[in-house]
Amino acid sequence: MRIFDPHIHMTSRTTDDYERMHAAGVRAVVEPAFWLGQPRTNVGSFLDYFDALLGWEPYRAAQHGIRHHCALALNPKEANDPRCAAVLAELPRYLLKNSVVAVGEVGYDSMTAEEERVFEAQLTLAQEHELPVLVHTPHRDKAAGTRRTLDVVRVAGIPPGRVLIDHLNEMTVGMVAESGCWMGFSIYPHTKMDPDRMVALLKEYGTDRMLVNSAADWGRSDPLKTRQVADAMLAAGFGEDDVDQVLWRNPVAFYGQSGRLDIDTGSETGADYAGNTIKRG
Ligand SMILES: [Zn+2]
Repeated sequence: MRIFDPHIHMTSRTTDDYERMHAAGVRAVVEPAFWLGQPRTNVGSFLDYFDALLGWEPYRAAQHGIRHHCALALNPKEANDPRCAAVLAELPRYLLKNSVVAVGEVGYDSMTAEEERVFEAQLTLAQEHELPVLVHTPHRDKAAGTRRTLDVVRVAGIPPGRVLIDHLNEMTVGMVAESGCWMGFSIYPHTKMDPDRMVALLKEYGTDRMLVNSAADWGRSDPLKTRQVADAMLAAGFGEDDVDQVLWRNPVAFYGQSGRLDIDTGSETGADYAGNTIKRG
């Protein structure tokens, strides 16, 4: 089984997680830029983070046989902090980098005017750079937030096929299915979506344009949730081809629109800290 986690924050995870993910079948990930818990106070702090997502983290992932790509953006939460606004001016040169396969995560957190302005500006950037967009939806007031998100996307004129609306649930999946955007589901332990609810949605809405992620970060989360959904799909009667579509081919098709997806290095070799090629069992 091959698995592509289209939304995971590996910066917050350990080497043990990389090993367990590889053993579970994860061979590729996309790490979107988000907030780190501790508020950032200046633009340089973002640039060091972006550089880590472009340099250190892909290197670390490769040592465990996992291909790492990233999405870059000013996240919705910090869009409200005037000290962070100048990141928008730095983004264009970062969006040219080879392992950047999308703009993200963008969207609403508390649905403020500032968040909307930054969201719209970054949809424009995505169009200028011909990149797909990963859109976060708010965890509070989710239905209203998702509806407004879809309105902003429509007005921006970006093709819905280049937009992934994430953190969906039973209440919001229908409106996104109708919009033509891709549908993302974050599977968390104990809260929000779980593997069985995900399988029920796949039965109802089918497997097209559906993406499943762990969204694992520094909070309560589990980087193996993608594999658990795959197993739950098989147990519920889905075939291996359905699993491969949702857990591999759909993320490949979505992020592949960037023209920058490099998934051929998913071989059983990686590099150690000295740059020597090492073989994995
Ligand atoms: Zn996230």
